[in-house]
Amino acid sequence: MDFTKTNLKISGLEYYKIYLEIYTKYNLRNVYKRFMLISLKKVTGKEMGKTAIIIGAGGVGRVVAHKTAQNRDIFEKIVLASRTKSKCDAIASEVANRGLGEIITDRVDGDNTDEVAELIEKYQADIVINVALPYQDLSIMDACIKTKTHYLDTANYEHPDTAKFEYKEQWARDEAFKQAGVLGLLGSGFDPGVTNVFIAYAQKHHFDEIHYIDIFDCNDGDHGYPFATNFNPEINIREITANGRYWENGEWIEIPALSKKIDWDYPEIGVRDSYLIYHEEMESLVQNIPHLKRIRFFMTFSEKYLTHLRVLENVGMTSIEPINFNGQEIVPLQFLKAILPDPATLGERTKGKTNIGVYVTGVKDGKEKTIYIYNVSQHEEAYRETGANGVSYTTGVPAMIGAKLILEGKWNGEGVFNMEEFDPDPFMEELNRQGLPWKLIEVE
Ligand code: NDP
Repeated sequence: MDFTKTNLKISGLEYYKIYLEIYTKYNLRNVYKRFMLISLKKVTGKEMGKTAIIIGAGGVGRVVAHKTAQNRDIFEKIVLASRTKSKCDAIASEVANRGLGEIITDRVDGDNTDEVAELIEKYQADIVINVALPYQDLSIMDACIKTKTHYLDTANYEHPDTAKFEYKEQWARDEAFKQAGVLGLLGSGFDPGVTNVFIAYAQKHHFDEIHYIDIFDCNDGDHGYPFATNFNPEINIREITANGRYWENGEWIEIPALSKKIDWDYPEIGVRDSYLIYHEEMESLVQNIPHLKRIRFFMTFSEKYLTHLRVLENVGMTSIEPINFNGQEIVPLQFLKAILPDPATLGERTKGKTNIGVYVTGVKDGKEKTIYIYNVSQHEEAYRETGANGVSYTTGVPAMIGAKLILEGKWNGEGVFNMEEFDPDPFMEELNRQGLPWKLIEVE
């Protein structure tokens, strides 16, 4: 049947469901699938919106699902796929209950490139938003190269057996992304993500040269548990228990974990203990911000949190070395994750604010100046809007914005990019529109 010659009036979504059914039944080859999608444009009389696949149905995946569904003009079709499909179904029904339309759900193993590629082909996705775990970054990137599909993530690759994260292997895929003619956007969360964009904005509008950057991250939320992490405990604890590292005068300086503390006065929150830790955005910023003399990253931890962490560390519970327990091999940190509260359930209990920002000093028109750009978010508001806590919210919103700018063509290019390599202005505008308003203070 030639759909293009009929007066058939069906909606895009109805047609798409027919297409999916035919695809599943007859496992059509790619050329036919593409033909059907071209016919769809003609039947419905309009250009198709874009299709995004979100991989990962944790706290961040929940926020990305809600925020993409709030922006249907760009994200016409949304597929949420993860290892556990029931988690995707639960999120999809919450999105539908909020009147935000349908989200298609599926199951995928993000570690398996062929499976991810098959998923991309099945839904003819325009972009994959990877909010599974950093361990899946490379396999999902490879599936995007294979299928010539845009890629975005929020955390850089980490090998499950080594608590070390770096961009090396993701940057090494630059040529393959170029050859596939697609864009890979790395680290489109808050930090990394918005922090990189804040610095690009400072560079574009406020400085001739940036010399010093301090990034300050405060989560002042209280969930009422004696100890819990606000995002994936395994990733979170691996990050905090690693040595601190900062960059000064062209070299990396390593210090023992949590050995440098300063008091920092966070606007709208107050003074909090802030510890120097290594954080991944510094790796790309030292390459992309010329004239930089020093960059450091500080994060707040309460005394209570650190006391629990020290005890867990001292007894070996944060180790990633497998041990034998009752004839079964287990990784202590993974076992700890299983008994700690699931971060995805913290949203309802968490009260208070987050403040993440960048404090930048440099030179403009021959004069030294300092600016502070930051966002303050409220955990309770994040929960009301998406059912997630503020940490997931501040990560998921920028992930959606990055994907939106790529699909709109406002951020374009072929290859693998970090956030500060693009024009910050459209991203800064979207932050104000999409629930993460920012402030800029010129410091005297
Ligand atoms: P969660 O642990 O809550 O969720 C991770 C999800 O990924 C789960 O649904 C999990 O499935 C799924 N998953 C894990 N392995 C696979 C796999 N092999 N295949 C398919 N799905 C898989 O994590 P968060 O939502 O808290 O964090 C998501 C990402 O966001 C992480 O990479 C984290 O590092 C990053 N992040 C970035 C921040 C930033 O500012 N840039 C801040 C906070 C987080 P299952 O339920 O079956 O386990």
